[in-house]
Amino acid sequence: MPVNHNVYKQLIADFEKNNSQLVAVTKYRSIEDVNSLYNYGQRKMGENKVQEILRKAPLLPENIEWHMIGHLQKNKVSKLLPFVNMIHSVDSLELLLEIEKQAAKIHKEILILLQVHISDEEQKYGFDLTSFENVFFDIEKLNLKYSKIVGLMGMASFTEDQSKIREEFKSLKHLYDQLSKNNSNLSILSMGMSGDYQLAIESGSNMVRIGSLLFE
Ligand SMILES: *Cc1c(COP(=O)(O)O)cnc(C)c1O
Repeated sequence: MPVNHNVYKQLIADFEKNNSQLVAVTKYRSIEDVNSLYNYGQRKMGENKVQEILRKAPLLPENIEWHMIGHLQKNKVSKLLPFVNMIHSVDSLELLLEIEKQAAKIHKEILILLQVHISDEEQKYGFDLTSFENVFFDIEKLNLKYSKIVGLMGMASFTEDQSKIREEFKSLKHLYDQLSKNNSNLSILSMGMSGDYQLAIESGSNMVRIGSLLFE
């Protein structure tokens, strides 16, 4: 399944207009496919499994920025950190503290997005939306040194109902705007995948994670 260069070019042009960034999701894709994305100029690559980042990163150019976008278990943090640039899926305080502890050991700054649960689907991970402001204030007080919290991530429900998806994205955008007023480190709102990225961008996303659409 080769990269669809026309789709890629079109997406990049669209995202530039909207000041948003593309994370190319390369899960299930070959080294060759990641290489062709790289040759088109793509540097941010997303994977949802630690094992895949560990396998691919050593075989590919060093200046690829690896984004961990899937659920992360605490016992895999230390293996992942040397290879990862940003983690989109930090969904508990315990996980965040483990990242801080392991990042300190290797003196590496890790960019963190806190994942917030905005869909009505139980199996999707993330901090609870309604109590998130207080959780965020508690996290800010920790003054973490290596885990740099730069934004929020959310996934909408898997549904045909566009207005529902829009409402979910807007709820996260609202939260992001509120928190950004008092925290100038927040600059990334990661929302949108192949099926819903247009709604996500309309709702204020500035980082989109796209996989299947990029491939023929
Ligand atoms: C797979 C995945 C994506 C990309 O999904 P596509 O529908 O292939 O664009 C985005 N975000 C997360 C967390 C994923 O696991």
